[in-house]
Amino acid sequence: MKDSRKIAFHHRTDVHLILLFSTLLFLGMAIALLAAQHIIRKDFHRLLTRQIDGAGIMAENAFKQIGQTGYLFIDQISRDAALINALDKKNKTAIKTAMERLATKSNTDTLILLNPQGKILYHSKDPGQVGQSRIHQHLIKLAVLEGKAGISIFQEMNNFIIYSSGFIRQKGEDRKLKAIILTGYAINDQMIHNISENSKIGITMVRRRAIIASTFNRDGLILQNIPLQWTEHQMLLAQKDSQSIINFNNKRYFAKANRLGLMDPLQEGSIFYTLPVETLESINKHLSRQFIIIFSLIFFTGSLLCWFFAHHLLTPLQKLLAFINDKEHHPDATLLVARKDEIGTLANCFCELIRDIQEQNQTLEIRVKERTADLVEANKQLQKQATRDHLTNLYNRRYFNEVGQSFLKIARREKKYFSVIMLDIDKFKVINDTYGHGVGDKVIKSLASLLVRHTRNSDIVSRFGGDEFAILLPFTDKNGAQSITEKLRLLTEKQNINIDGSIIKFTISLGVDYINIENDRQISEALDRADAALYRAKETGRNQTAAN
Ligand code: GH3
Ligand code: MG
Repeated sequence: MKDSRKIAFHHRTDVHLILLFSTLLFLGMAIALLAAQHIIRKDFHRLLTRQIDGAGIMAENAFKQIGQTGYLFIDQISRDAALINALDKKNKTAIKTAMERLATKSNTDTLILLNPQGKILYHSKDPGQVGQSRIHQHLIKLAVLEGKAGISIFQEMNNFIIYSSGFIRQKGEDRKLKAIILTGYAINDQMIHNISENSKIGITMVRRRAIIASTFNRDGLILQNIPLQWTEHQMLLAQKDSQSIINFNNKRYFAKANRLGLMDPLQEGSIFYTLPVETLESINKHLSRQFIIIFSLIFFTGSLLCWFFAHHLLTPLQKLLAFINDKEHHPDATLLVARKDEIGTLANCFCELIRDIQEQNQTLEIRVKERTADLVEANKQLQKQATRDHLTNLYNRRYFNEVGQSFLKIARREKKYFSVIMLDIDKFKVINDTYGHGVGDKVIKSLASLLVRHTRNSDIVSRFGGDEFAILLPFTDKNGAQSITEKLRLLTEKQNINIDGSIIKFTISLGVDYINIENDRQISEALDRADAALYRAKETGRNQTAAN
């Protein structure tokens, strides 16, 4: 029973383990939640960057498309017969008339015609001295010297303009250059507004050292014009493609700058994409809230399952342990477990085990009782066999010696006379020879019975073997002993024993002595003296007592 209490103690430890496990589960989930949030935030930034990049590509494609339109138009101009004729004749008025017609038709913001040396032959709108000279320089370089005329974005005054360039060549094998044509479309506020509206982010065109180009930032649903100082964001714009969080008018924006591949480093500019951080954070917060709810639900469900599992497992175990602890008081009690799972099976097995043990205990107790009784009986028999003579049931010689030794001590302590008688049937061989051994045995038994009957209970009567007997008489002196020997001798002599129809008479000879309390150390010393007396009694005629 003590062991089962130990089990109960361990069981409480298990409850603590389950609590610890739940706490660890909670901590684990909290860490997982934070990690998930971190990963989501990172992913969100990545997605956003991709979105901005997408918007950038979209914007650049839109610009290219505009340039492409201009380029297609140049193809038409280069085949215009009136213009070619005017160029061949070098008729300025005819050139101007043809170009004005084409400018109206092309719907471009600017249409320019240059001679192969780069001199302006026609300009639809005058962008000013600076713009003119720049266009002149770069397009000549581009188209004539490097032969790379195509679509380019230029800063012209406060606007970015997409220019497409083309050539008018002479007919013939050498196809000599006659003129260079440029069509330009301004990247104006409306265009950026449209791109920005489609991509849902802010787009800004910036050029180096410029204070403002066209700036639109999506703020809520309204597109706002925000001034952008180059120096403020030099770091951001200095790199080819970079991103960071920047401030416009005390408002934080997630920003990404893509460098425009312009020819003139002085004209260098970027397309600048922005999204208010507020928008980003509110989306992020929303996502985080969703994750917290999901993780909390998972955690509480997990905890509930944990608790339910622990309860489901521990309650019947507690019941079983209480039952074990109580077993001492109710040995016949049975534990009722309705469950059919492992716990139920365990409890039922346990009860069956207890019942088996109880049954076996009972059987064992009965068996032990039976065996004990047998043993007691066997012991009695053994005791008897060890102390008694089997024929006469008198004490045997071994027992006589043991008791005699004790009597010797008592005699010496009490300083009292203890007498010893040795006696032997006279001519017993004759009885054996005449009537047979069976009759001889009966004679021995009848003498034994006579000796027991006519001595005291305190006297020790024993058969030494054959027809020889010894008697120990406590607290009896020499005279007392002699009168007893005489009595026994006369009684034997007088009796007629009827055995199997034959009347048998016999006599005995006796030797008597007493224990010498001064000198005797062994009872055998007194016995030897009595035996010597018996020998004399035999020698001197038998049927008599002799004493020292
Ligand atoms: P004595 O007068 O000198 O004693 O002559 P005895 O013939 O009695 O001689 P002794 O005592 O020496 O002989 C004992 C005989 O008793 C010898 C043996 O055959 C016989 N005897 C010994 N034990 C038993 C027994 O258990 N039963 C029977 N029937 N005879 C026994
Ligand atoms: Mg004899």
